[in-house]
Amino acid sequence: MDFGFTAKQQAWRQQVRDFLGEELPSDWRGMGRSFEASDEGFAYSRQFARKLAQKGWLAVSWPKEYGGRAASHTEQTIFNEEMVYNRAPNVVGIQYIAVAFVGPALMIYGTEEQKKRHLPAILAGEEVWCQGFSEPNAGSDLASLQTRAVEEGDDYVINGEKLWTTGAHHADWCILGTRTDPTAPKHKGISYFLLDMKTPGVTVEPLLDLTGSHHVNHTILQDVKIPRTQMLGEKNRGWYEMATTLDFERSSILYSAGARRSLKELVDYVKETKSGRKRSDGATTIRHRLAELAIEAEAARVMAYRVAWMQDAGKIPNYEASISKLFSTELSQRIFNVGMQLLGPYAELIPDSRWAALGGEIPNSYMSSIPATLAGGSSEIQRNIIATRGLGLPR
Ligand SMILES: Cc1cc2nc3c(=O)[nH]c(=O)nc-3n(C[C@H](O)[C@H](O)[C@H](O)COP(=O)(O)OP(=O)(O)OC[C@H]3O[C@@H](n4cnc5c(N)ncnc54)[C@H](O)[C@@H]3O)c2cc1C
Repeated sequence: MDFGFTAKQQAWRQQVRDFLGEELPSDWRGMGRSFEASDEGFAYSRQFARKLAQKGWLAVSWPKEYGGRAASHTEQTIFNEEMVYNRAPNVVGIQYIAVAFVGPALMIYGTEEQKKRHLPAILAGEEVWCQGFSEPNAGSDLASLQTRAVEEGDDYVINGEKLWTTGAHHADWCILGTRTDPTAPKHKGISYFLLDMKTPGVTVEPLLDLTGSHHVNHTILQDVKIPRTQMLGEKNRGWYEMATTLDFERSSILYSAGARRSLKELVDYVKETKSGRKRSDGATTIRHRLAELAIEAEAARVMAYRVAWMQDAGKIPNYEASISKLFSTELSQRIFNVGMQLLGPYAELIPDSRWAALGGEIPNSYMSSIPATLAGGSSEIQRNIIATRGLGLPR
């Protein structure tokens, strides 16, 4: 792996930085978790996504024939890193679900009609998607999903429930995993549908997280009728089709970029505030911890770029992507743990308090760093992959 960036990649990073420097207020420290989760925050982020779309930057790695810039994985990773490091607004259902996942799946498996209907709308930032995969009894073992889709003439009738559907309350569409053949071995009876969230029978109930914010949902499907034309790909082949669309940006750079930014703020806090200095003066352990975390944050960054580099070299990252996800999400938890110790009593204060340190976001980030080690494959599952596929240990 080449650890340096090419002149073209460096110029691209600068272009993204310049754009963000112009678009974000000079004292911008991010949206904050509760504003981000509010309707107003969603509207703000959506507007930002539209701005990116107008610039042709919403889907930089999409092929040119679909309106993208055919950017390499490394260029996409640079873009994502700058966006997250600078805490630019983003809509998970646009950037991380529609653009990074649904779009590429449609390009490979969509019918012409499906592509025409959705790809331009996604590219313009006008369609928000959610991902309806997990269920109460199907998370790590996703192939156990039980939501049933039964053929009835030209339609399928769907019954079941989905858990943890991020952004379902704002979504226009959902990419939905269903069981179409309950008699087949579990990986062989799954089909995917493109579900219009306004279809009768779809109910979205909020699930509040530890910070009290509404990001994820419980989505109930009761006698939901979907035309057969909204099936994505081949009947009962969904499991295998989804596995081949995982070629989007898989570096986990968003976690390491977020961690690096928070660590920088903690270090600045120690340097610039009296209470920060007081807690760290003579407290060698805190200084050592911050130095250690800074080294780990750089290591996390390199792990993420290794994944992007592999993808650009035509290799398929496997346990390497697991190492990056595991290390960077657990690193975030270590950083916020130290942040809580460092802020001392101030760590109890949330954003509304005038005495809150660092905008009161450290306790929020401390709590919201927990689900990151579950979402998108838990730490235990990543360790299993590293052990078996990376280290060759027996199952
Ligand atoms: C914030 C957040 C957002 C999410 N967004 C979405 C979304 O938009 N759409 C969607 O479909 N899903 C979403 N998910 C669901 C996510 O993919 C699942 O939470 C995840 O796959 C884990 O599944 P589970 O919660 O059912 O836990 P389980 O699979 O029940 O696991 C419970 C515990 O057992 C451990 N475990 C399970 N199997 C093994 C094993 N084989 N070996 C060792 N340990 C094991 C797990 O690591 C975990 O600690 C989201 C989750 C979170 C937390």
